Amino acid sequence: MVDSISDKSKNYHKKASTNISITLLLTFLFNIIVICGGLYTNSVAILSDSIHEVADTLCIFISWVLEKASLKNPDDKYTYGYQRLSLLSALITSFFVIGASIFVLYESFTRIFYIIKPDAKGMFIFGIIGIIFKGYSFYKVYNGQTYNEKAISLHLLGDLLEWVAILILSIILMFSDLVILDPIISLIIAIWLIYSLGKTSIESIRIFLQKVPDQYNLKEIKEKILKIDNVCEIINIHLWSLDGIALILTCKLKVKTTNKDDLIQIRNDISKISKEYDVIEETVEFIFN
Ligand SMILES: [Zn+2]
Repeated sequence: MVDSISDKSKNYHKKASTNISITLLLTFLFNIIVICGGLYTNSVAILSDSIHEVADTLCIFISWVLEKASLKNPDDKYTYGYQRLSLLSALITSFFVIGASIFVLYESFTRIFYIIKPDAKGMFIFGIIGIIFKGYSFYKVYNGQTYNEKAISLHLLGDLLEWVAILILSIILMFSDLVILDPIISLIIAIWLIYSLGKTSIESIRIFLQKVPDQYNLKEIKEKILKIDNVCEIINIHLWSLDGIALILTCKLKVKTTNKDDLIQIRNDISKISKEYDVIEETVEFIFN
């Protein structure tokens, strides 16, 4: 069993949990504003965005619950701890937003051919409110180290760009009739979201599949281990990550000594190397020549 989750990982997940809770609160408030605004201005466009906001609130709520749960220490049931819940949440967010973007893609496409003139004044006011809410929410998570925050921040950046586009469009629409710009911009943002969240999902899936995280070079670690006195061969080595932050290292080494002190020295050297690479648990097996 992993004794407890590493301090670095714990700090990242703690920070993530606080930032996500602020984002959740802002999304919920914005949700209420959009519903009231939609009813007040009688705008179908704004009301239909409230469906998006309700779904966003739910999705960020799930992320927050999972991020909080990921802080739990390992127990007899989950011996590696719960950090992968944060990664799972990143995948849920990505799949949800990709699904929503495919829907937007379809909607925008049909609207290129069946143009509806939106209410420019309502769009202008909501554009400003949207930028403030989404902008601050994005600011809270964009620097996050967890995959969960990375997925949420991409989603919020997409939303923010949408509101910036709505604001610019509303100004253009006050002076011209270029209504076709509305679905075209939505189309571009949807494609960008599908691409970037698709990339984040693939990265998260790779970590689930225990791939060596991209930022670590296994060849370099192997070279360091082979330089340790009395180690003659690495029979096998496994390096994988729980959540993209905390690493686990397992290796089987052929050694040319049976002396207890020499073996302890090898073990200590491996621990030193592990520390350089954020490994929270290393297991070493010796095979004697
Ligand atoms: Zn959204």
